[in-house]
Amino acid sequence: MVGDTPSTEKVSFEKRGDVAVITINNPPINAGSEAVRRGLLAAIQSLEEDPDLIGAVLMGAGSTFVAGSDLHEFGAPLSEPQLPAVITAIEVCPKPIVAALHGVALGGGLELALGCDARVATVGTLVGLPEVTLGIIPGAGGTQRLPRLMGIPKAIEVICSGRRVPLEEALSLGLVDKVVVGAPPDEAIAYLRKMSGMKRPVLARQVPLADEGEVDAAAAAALKAGKSRPAVVEAIRAIRSTATLSGEQGLSAERDVFQLLRVSEEAFALRHQFFAERAAAKPRQARHITPRPIETIGVVGAGTMGAGIALAALAAGMSVTLVEVNGEALDRGMARIKDDHDRRVSRGRLSKADAEDALSRLRGSATLEALATVDVIIEAVVEDLDVKKTVFAALDGIAKPGAILASNTSYLDLDAFAAATSRPEDVLGLHFFSPAQVMRLLEVVRGDKTAPDVLATGVALGKRMGKMPILARNAFGFIGNRIYAAYRRQCEFMLEEGGLPQNIDRALEAYGFAMGPFAVADMSGLDIAWHMRRARAKEGLQNPEDRYVDIPDRLCERGRFGRKSGAGYYRYDAAAKIRPMVDPDVTALIQEEAARRGYPSRDMSDTAIQDRVLLTMANEAALVVAEGVADRVEDIDLVLVNGYGFPKWRGGPVFWARGRDPRDLAARLDDLAVLSGPGFRKGDLSVLFEGRPA
Ligand code: NAD
Repeated sequence: MVGDTPSTEKVSFEKRGDVAVITINNPPINAGSEAVRRGLLAAIQSLEEDPDLIGAVLMGAGSTFVAGSDLHEFGAPLSEPQLPAVITAIEVCPKPIVAALHGVALGGGLELALGCDARVATVGTLVGLPEVTLGIIPGAGGTQRLPRLMGIPKAIEVICSGRRVPLEEALSLGLVDKVVVGAPPDEAIAYLRKMSGMKRPVLARQVPLADEGEVDAAAAAALKAGKSRPAVVEAIRAIRSTATLSGEQGLSAERDVFQLLRVSEEAFALRHQFFAERAAAKPRQARHITPRPIETIGVVGAGTMGAGIALAALAAGMSVTLVEVNGEALDRGMARIKDDHDRRVSRGRLSKADAEDALSRLRGSATLEALATVDVIIEAVVEDLDVKKTVFAALDGIAKPGAILASNTSYLDLDAFAAATSRPEDVLGLHFFSPAQVMRLLEVVRGDKTAPDVLATGVALGKRMGKMPILARNAFGFIGNRIYAAYRRQCEFMLEEGGLPQNIDRALEAYGFAMGPFAVADMSGLDIAWHMRRARAKEGLQNPEDRYVDIPDRLCERGRFGRKSGAGYYRYDAAAKIRPMVDPDVTALIQEEAARRGYPSRDMSDTAIQDRVLLTMANEAALVVAEGVADRVEDIDLVLVNGYGFPKWRGGPVFWARGRDPRDLAARLDDLAVLSGPGFRKGDLSVLFEGRPA
């Protein structure tokens, strides 16, 4: 092959004097794939065989090095050659190879670079091993080579967090040997020449001796942050093994674990979430539409949500005007925003200068007129149709032409607010979750008349605020609250059938929910839903024929509003009011209700409770999709995971349904409908299977 140009479709091989430049060209992110790996092996062979060449530089074409492996390959048998074989070929090649990094080097991309004899990176490059966040461990030497560069404790932190390491830190950790300003590959060629033909494989280095206490502390912190999921446990084991195993033994053990984990249900679930997130980042209805420019934002209502939304907007660099009718509430909201900044400064998460800059962009006002010049106004006043209609009508008279009028309503009819204005096309829903400065989910709600560029602006604004915008159509509870309401209702049915709050909560927490539904209800307050039920009944929206569980009303009638009143589904200790305790009064109330309604008292197994809840969620998801409230089936799983504490590693209710036999599911849904009684609507679960990747 000497003298030839053995470039393949995905990997080019170019001779620059006595140095070969090997370039991976697999747009858009140069993901590792079978063709890439084959091309690399051929290139390394050419390097070896060409006596004129002293070494090579390995780089990526376009905007990045290698952003990771093609995750689609991970669910099926892996095709040869596999990545470890390529890395071994680099290591045994007698000529040095320098990786020239730019953009990102993640996962298999970083492992490939770690197989090289040195790494030179352009300013701004990010590196990391995100495998653990996908339910697997690095499978091509990451757990073996990282500890040899940075020691075991730090390797545990970097690998188990899966975080992206900025270049300065990567340099100090030894992940990168040199930072350069120019584009690859010139500086890397210069670096290679200085190596004078010397090989410097990472695997040949000694693992730095680590203090056992430090290793234990790093492992404990990683297990806590990673909820002791199998990938975290196995990653720690593999990293720690570098203290006793040879490089070769360690690589082989690492690969075995990787192969097992990559086909685990958890890894499939996390890949499902990954692909769903990627698809949601480009919503069909906002694609190719230019958003309106947004720099200034107005927030109406300085309560829980208003203050949180203001915090999120300030963090995104926008100027915020916060309007509140109640003077005391305005002071409280402004103080909360300041306190939040102070807290972050004192914890070292924010610089004093950045905090001052953010707060200088905030102003409070008692009148809506202060919003005359802002680009977008987000209404976050009390959840009351008439109050919100009045606010929108007033905003219509004040906001500048082209300003976007958004509502943070949880359940109310967005079109009714739009109709109160002369510009319904500028109205949309921006449904943030509490605490708004923390939670990633943002439902971007389209009303009947919302203009496409307004929707696109909502999506762009959400992204700028670091949120995950998910499109929804205006309908009761949109996507998330609608499914959550069905879930909670089903849990109340179980209560009425004699299931106790602590048993139901325990079963769902064991499944992985952050909190069970009754602990959540106590935390958010039972009175809000009580008022809503009464309002709906008054408006004739409650069908008297439907099954109605009285227990929550009975609790509220006794002044049990949850944590804040010291009692709800549970009792709370007087001082902190946070530790839920089983209350015999509630047990007695539930048993009375069950007897009154003729339900025999019976124990429900954790699995029965979990299955019933998951099927309920899947059913409501099918209705939400069929009614066009959700744009994409997979969006449902993103909403539940990012807004409602559904365990990410379980994939979501749609993923759950897809893992079951559709005929069996349909039969079980028939049973659930009977069990649930009048008012339960059955969906067609087959919609959940549509668009499912093969
Ligand atoms: P909140 O009671 O904490 O705050 C509402 C604030 O609006 C109060 O300070 C009130 O004084 C003020 N207000 C009332 N009328 C006003 C007016 N005409 N002009 C200016 N300010 C006015 O309520 P919240 O929990 O922040 O909820 C606000 C909205 O967000 C509601 O629509 C709610 O459904 C929605 N939401 C709440 C949550 C949550 O978890 N709290 C989550 C998502 C959405």
